[in-house]
Amino acid sequence: MPVLVMKFGGTSVANLDRIRRAAKRVGVEVAKGYDVIVIVSAMSGKTNEMVGWVEETSPLFDAREYDAVVSSGEAVTAGLMALTLQEMDVPARSWQGWQVPLQTTSAHSQARIEEIGTKNINQKFGEGMKVAVVAGFQGISPEGRITTLGRGGSDTTAVAFAAAFDAVRCDIYTDVDGVYTTDPRICDKARKLDKISYEEMLELASLGAKVLQTRSVELAMRFKVKLRVLSSFEEQCDEAGTLVCAEEEIMESNAVAGVAYSRDEAKLTLLSVADRPGIAAIIFNALSEGGVNVDMIVQNISEDGRTDMTFSCPTDQVARAEQALLKTKGTGDLNYAELVADKDVAKISVVGIGMRSQSGVAAKMFKVLSDEGINIKVITTSEIKISVLIDRKYMELAVQALHDAFDLDKVA
Ligand code: ADP
Ligand code: ASP
Ligand code: MG
Repeated sequence: MPVLVMKFGGTSVANLDRIRRAAKRVGVEVAKGYDVIVIVSAMSGKTNEMVGWVEETSPLFDAREYDAVVSSGEAVTAGLMALTLQEMDVPARSWQGWQVPLQTTSAHSQARIEEIGTKNINQKFGEGMKVAVVAGFQGISPEGRITTLGRGGSDTTAVAFAAAFDAVRCDIYTDVDGVYTTDPRICDKARKLDKISYEEMLELASLGAKVLQTRSVELAMRFKVKLRVLSSFEEQCDEAGTLVCAEEEIMESNAVAGVAYSRDEAKLTLLSVADRPGIAAIIFNALSEGGVNVDMIVQNISEDGRTDMTFSCPTDQVARAEQALLKTKGTGDLNYAELVADKDVAKISVVGIGMRSQSGVAAKMFKVLSDEGINIKVITTSEIKISVLIDRKYMELAVQALHDAFDLDKVA
């Protein structure tokens, strides 16, 4: 039997009624002749609630126990989904990550998938089971401990299963009916895309569009998984949603495909560090050892052999960055006058493979922001994206103005 993977996110399994609707959708696919692997998230809000409990119990928590706690939301929905399907006379059973087994690295709270065993589930399919309901987001480490795949990780579970079982498609059911030119929640002119390339989706996801976890897009691209994003709230689902596919399958494209934002960014500047070989290595080594995910980096103009070094990281890592740099200050020649942290910044990015062949996108982006009176604090570019850091209070205005200026509400 051909295998289809269907993933239901938190809002799509938010209560028993929603689980029943999702199960009905699964029943439709079973009736078409598929063996279905259903990947479920925790009910919406549950993972956040549990993260809160862990942080309140132990601010510097043991990540292994964090995973033991937060993986449990998916365990509940997997069992409930299997029960719901059984009530509909669809042969189904639930699987926890470790039962599959879905083997991961030991990097607790952000583990990577190493291998998915297909034998157990295939055996059950062979015995007449029609639906394997798998708890998303969780796996097992080489040490036999429960791991989780990072926030939004059920998307990655789904794509990894689609690759491992050679599924015909991986359908991601969520609370929007596809991938939009920007987050429809902050821009009402956002337009749903019928198709988007893996490359563009990868950039949008990594730059903040949380509709798909970045790693899931990476895997889909690597294993050529046909990935579709669609709404679990709509009755009709055939041909709906957005297909994430190879660039060649897309006929026309704008220079810019979409705008992404990331709200919780911070900009840190080390004032007056020595402008000499080795200093950047010391700074960023200290940050890396302190577990800080540095994003943008800018070294400012040097004067009298001293310079300022600016970088950005997630807001919740500022304390860690300050601690790591303070620990290193005075050692290995690192000295600085002051560390200035600006925690109220957001990152806005425009993304599009058309940028490879069309010039002027950066100039236009900067002009649009300047016309709105928005100051740019840091800029970075790559082949298919331009990102800027700005004051967070202008975030929505910037997204909307860029969306308008690049005509993203219109088909190319
Ligand atoms: P789920 O719980 O189903 O995994 P998420 O909340 O993780 O859903 O992702 C869906 C949300 O992603 C949408 O509600 C939307 O606000 C947000 N989003 C951000 N950028 C985009 C985009 N470009 N297209 C569609 N949705 C987006
Ligand atoms: N429940 C997890 C989270 O909220 C994983 C997921 O939903 O994808 O991050
Ligand atoms: Mg999600």
